[in-house]
Amino acid sequence: MSFKGEYQIANLEQRLPNNEVRCNLSPRNCKMKEGQLGFCGVRGNRDGRLVTYTFGKGVHLTEELIETEAIYHFAPGAKILSLGNIGCNLNCQYCQNWKTSQAKFVEDKDVHSFTPESIIETALRHNIRVLSWTYNDPVVWHEFVIATAKLAKKAGIYNLYKSACFITEEALDELLPHIDIFSVSIKAIDEAYYRKLTTGWLQPVLDATKKIYKAGKHLEVSNLMITDVSDNEQSARNMAGWVLENLGPEIPLHFVRFHPEYRMRDTVRTPIDRLERAQVIAKEMGLQHVYLGNVANTDATSSFCNFCGSKLVHRFGLAAHLESLKQDSSCGNCGKAVHFNALDLQDSLENSETTLPDNELVRHTYEWRGDITSIHVQAKNPTNKATSIYYRKQSDASELWKEIPLAAEESFRFILAKPNAEESGLEIALPDFIVSNLFEVFDRAHFPTISIEEGVSENDRTALPKFEGKQIPEKLKLSLAEPNP
Ligand code: SF4
Repeated sequence: MSFKGEYQIANLEQRLPNNEVRCNLSPRNCKMKEGQLGFCGVRGNRDGRLVTYTFGKGVHLTEELIETEAIYHFAPGAKILSLGNIGCNLNCQYCQNWKTSQAKFVEDKDVHSFTPESIIETALRHNIRVLSWTYNDPVVWHEFVIATAKLAKKAGIYNLYKSACFITEEALDELLPHIDIFSVSIKAIDEAYYRKLTTGWLQPVLDATKKIYKAGKHLEVSNLMITDVSDNEQSARNMAGWVLENLGPEIPLHFVRFHPEYRMRDTVRTPIDRLERAQVIAKEMGLQHVYLGNVANTDATSSFCNFCGSKLVHRFGLAAHLESLKQDSSCGNCGKAVHFNALDLQDSLENSETTLPDNELVRHTYEWRGDITSIHVQAKNPTNKATSIYYRKQSDASELWKEIPLAAEESFRFILAKPNAEESGLEIALPDFIVSNLFEVFDRAHFPTISIEEGVSENDRTALPKFEGKQIPEKLKLSLAEPNP
């Protein structure tokens, strides 16, 4: 469907003379004449009123894992329902979701419609207790986020907001009461970086992050380290210093690996030793929980007790497994408090297991390759009867399969993550009338739009799994900010 048809009056409208309006949702404060759209391409001026074109319109709903969102200290391993909008109030040169974040590139096939009620019904039916507002920045989906988050709260469902937080204080005041968990992406403590690579600016992001922290919300911060741009030691020091000075040493900080994408393809993935160096620096400076992201086979993504060193949560890619972490957020070895929330969501961790039914099923396999550690499976039940699809690890010798129920005419998308380095692949079994596609997920919070069956097009070219590119052009290299005073 197209997102350009229906619209509704938007919040944070400022009406101006001559039928002009100003949007006070993001710090751009776009001023629009009648018929014009704002920078984001999804809010505009209709007959002198500020409207949103994307209430109830976004990309396909997707069941994922909370680790997808750079949230490690809230219900590790919990299932989430990821909700991605279209359009964005930024235009980051390396955006991995550019085909849906930049309104002009959005294809009708990627736009789906839903209501707040239908989202809650889907989450409850699939035993999901966290809604995640993610992929493209949810700021420009403001009205729909709030309407749905209110209903979620009533249904006992948490709301997670993954954002670059380029948002006005006024808009954040509207949002804060409805969100429980914030994953804030701070790109760099560097104004020049923001201006050149995101088209936004830094101060509103820092102000919003401080406000979220002061409001006592669950907060984790992530920092994408771009090869040769923001992956040096000074950048890590600036980031850790800002978190320490303005938030607190207990706030988790994630240094995230970058892959070439969108307008920054002529480069390579962030070298892992630079990420590891950033982690050492941030820990030495006093941060208590520092992780690497988009790196699979390393202890740098697992959680350890800062008192006795025992492993609390083991992670491989997006897969998390509780080790000595106890439900009261203490270390099972030394008994000290270790800063985790919502450990009572254990019942929403896993899909149920069953044996395969007698009816004939079509089987597909997927072999893990390169750096890919997760895939999305999209399955549509075109019939008016409920059914199920099934999956398991290739190495699983038992007769048990995980089951995903599908309601009549439901289309459901879900993530399957590689659980360890040795695992070779997956098996999926489904009735022959199910229409299904597999999508390779390049990095976390990536929403792929081209399935394996369609092939990887020139537009979806990526560093994965093998990319022999050149380093980033000289003109894009930036001098990073001075150290914090
Ligand atoms: S949300 Fe969109 S229309 Fe509003 S100020 Fe930001 S970019 Fe402009």
